[in-house]
Amino acid sequence: VLYEENPEASRRSNVAGKVPLGVKGKSLRILVTGGAGFVGSHLVDRLIGRGDSVIVVDNFFTGRKENLVHHFGDPRFELIRHDVVEPILLEVDQIYHLACPASPVHYKFNPVKTIKTNVVGTLNMLGLAKRVGARFLLTSTSEVYGDPLQHPQVETYWGNVNPIGVRSCYDEGKRTAETLTMDYHRGLGIEVRIARIFNTYGPRMCIDDGRVVSNFVAQALRKEPLTVYGEFTMLELAEVVQETIDPNAKIEFRPNTEDDPHKRKPDISKAKQLLGWEPTVSLRKGLPLMVSDFRQRIFGEQKMGGA
Ligand code: NAD
Ligand code: UDP
Repeated sequence: VLYEENPEASRRSNVAGKVPLGVKGKSLRILVTGGAGFVGSHLVDRLIGRGDSVIVVDNFFTGRKENLVHHFGDPRFELIRHDVVEPILLEVDQIYHLACPASPVHYKFNPVKTIKTNVVGTLNMLGLAKRVGARFLLTSTSEVYGDPLQHPQVETYWGNVNPIGVRSCYDEGKRTAETLTMDYHRGLGIEVRIARIFNTYGPRMCIDDGRVVSNFVAQALRKEPLTVYGEFTMLELAEVVQETIDPNAKIEFRPNTEDDPHKRKPDISKAKQLLGWEPTVSLRKGLPLMVSDFRQRIFGEQKMGGA
């Protein structure tokens, strides 16, 4: 759950001709680190839409300016090329700290950098929160549960993580980021939130980030076989992608990657009860949104490349 839903604010922002005023009628100054990425850029759309001022800090490792170009020229929007591993001085009311590569291909590319981003980057952003008294949200991950021994996973489950494996830079990095967040909360009174996001898909995902939904969609569009690694349930997903894009798309079985968790499923009772949140977009409705975005980017890019 990335932000608290406020029906009153969304209602106000829909009044024609009126400038939306943000949550509770007050326009907030919000920092979104990693705001040029997949999840971050959608969050920025939502915050700008409800009337807040947004500063995005991003080093463009996996993010793209194209994801934010529609906000360029808006006086309430600012984009800063900056690496969160280095400190930065800004004045803001809230911080959404997303900066970190999310897909295994990207976070394994330079594991030490991934750890630095998670540990030093999170420390810097918590330091900023402390200095200006801002509320802080960390986007953590289902990876903190590792290869879980408990199903479905509740927030109180501590996980089963390999500390020295090829995914540890991300898993343990995020676990340390969570620890830092809670220590700044307990020790220094910073108001914090931690969202453990599970595998998310949608428009603006990196096309070749190696994750399952983006792989299957790009493969079906490019008339390549859909690569199912070991897991049976992935086959069901592959079949929905086939149905949506190309019934003749081939499916190819491949061995699993190292340390890949066998099974994960969140228990969302707490999110439902406390935040009134639950997923509302089914796979069959969500996939076509992503397919049209990928189709445009894959075939658009090919045309440009061939010109
Ligand atoms: P993404 O790779 O699209 O976005 C990450 C953004 O952070 C990119 O714009 C990248 O350029 C930026 N970034 C990376 N390192 C940085 C650094 N050192 N300094 C400044 N910017 C940096 O990934 P996403 O899917 O949008 O994920 C966003 C957040 O959500 C991440 O923290 C990720 O761990 C978390 N998350 C995502 C998923 C998912 O399924 N997408 C699942 C669990 C957690
Ligand atoms: N997977 C797959 N084919 C692919 C890519 C991934 O079958 O082309 C499987 C992978 O083995 C894992 C699941 O999809 O069981 C989710 O993997 P992904 O890399 O998307 O996410 P993460 O491991 O980060 O949760």
